[in-house]
Amino acid sequence: MDIPSLTIDRVREGLQSRRFSAVELAQEALRFAETHNPSTNAYLLFSAQRALEAAARVDQKLARGEDPGPLAGVPIAVKDVIVTKGVRTTCGSKLLAEYIPPYDATAVARLEAAGGVILGKTNCDEFAMGSSNENSAFGPVRNPLAPDRVPGGSSGGSAAAVAQGTAVLALGSDTGGSIRQPASFCGLVGVTPTYGRVSRYGLTAFASSLDHIGPLARSVRDVAILLGAIAGRDPLDATSAEAPVPDYTQALDGSVKGLKLGLPREYLKDLTSESGELIAKGVERLRKLGCEVRDISLPATDYAIACYYIIATAEASSNLARYDGVRYTFRSQAGGSLGDMYRRTRGEGFGAECKRRIMLGTYVLSAGYYDAYYLKAQKVRALIARDFTRAFSEVDAIVAPVSPFPAFKLGEKIDDPLAMYLSDIYTITGSLAGIPCLSVPCGRTAAGLPVGMQILARHFDEPGMFRLADAFERAGGAN
Ligand code: GLN
Repeated sequence: MDIPSLTIDRVREGLQSRRFSAVELAQEALRFAETHNPSTNAYLLFSAQRALEAAARVDQKLARGEDPGPLAGVPIAVKDVIVTKGVRTTCGSKLLAEYIPPYDATAVARLEAAGGVILGKTNCDEFAMGSSNENSAFGPVRNPLAPDRVPGGSSGGSAAAVAQGTAVLALGSDTGGSIRQPASFCGLVGVTPTYGRVSRYGLTAFASSLDHIGPLARSVRDVAILLGAIAGRDPLDATSAEAPVPDYTQALDGSVKGLKLGLPREYLKDLTSESGELIAKGVERLRKLGCEVRDISLPATDYAIACYYIIATAEASSNLARYDGVRYTFRSQAGGSLGDMYRRTRGEGFGAECKRRIMLGTYVLSAGYYDAYYLKAQKVRALIARDFTRAFSEVDAIVAPVSPFPAFKLGEKIDDPLAMYLSDIYTITGSLAGIPCLSVPCGRTAAGLPVGMQILARHFDEPGMFRLADAFERAGGAN
């Protein structure tokens, strides 16, 4: 069994032809992942028992002649901000180092209902705050394509696992780019679905109005199948959408001729690097496929970083207030009053980035500053969303870079939070507008580092987004 070359379709063929059983595949995949994980630190924990039980259920269904589901037997990694019943979920934080959730996230339950086999939980920036995976309390993750470089963040472990071949699919979470940016850095397809498309129930809250769960895989087809399995209304998440879930694979028909694509000038004006050249080549490729490419403007883009880091930190400061040493977390043993216990638990437990964001978020929400910062940022968010609505009255989809640069060196930006925040300059706008967006491999730099192209679409137009990405992938990207 060549584990790293598996796809959903190959797993299905193998199971149907009885070349292997789901349990044999799970055992082999676990062995492979456990052997290769030390070189990346992508997984924080392997859930072997749970994986083997899920695989056994698939084998039983096959033996009874029942449909084992669209993800039957497929080895999957789950970002450690998504809760798994009975399986430790740390959120990359020392605070939750021993936390065992009493329930499953809806996306996790749906993965298993579709026959998926969860191998383990993946490393991430603490509470999904970061762009390099270096903010994890459990050590950084190495990019499997360039071990001295970061895999991107915050879903760095999920991306590294799929790129390394220790998982076929992974779930990540995206608040401002944390699926698309690591997908771009690791040469994968990564999807941020429309806000509300996938239930957030069981996704540990960072910034609730921006948080999304989404898939990572090595092909557009595989992310389309995975999204189909986890999407849809969930009564446990009031913000999940009623909209019916189409069969996304139906959209992968190559019919992109005549599509109108917008190229936002604000995203390209400072992009002079090799990444920029690759995106320009990718756009040429789309033209050759018959798309009509137009120059468009999204004028509020310049304010996006400031807007995001006000709204995201404001929501985070409130969401992280629950980690107080009373519930969920470890408790500082230093003694003293109740107030001392809160302060010491949080002081010892949170890493520097979370503390920075709690302080920023508390400040922008405080009486006297609320109107100047938080309220203003909410207004800017509306302008950013309006830019997209206007653009989509003229074009069918928008193509853009994912990141200003490819994977950077470990340690390169860790002491400069502002430089780190700029990694997200092209991804946070889509997150703020709640529209679906993805990263699809575009090409490689001279040094062999992957560069992703971003495709953004109208709310709930995941099919249109997948159609374009699939045609681009089949055409070989920019190469
Ligand atoms: N890098 C961004 C941040 O640090 C985005 C994180 C995310 O999408 N979870 O906030």
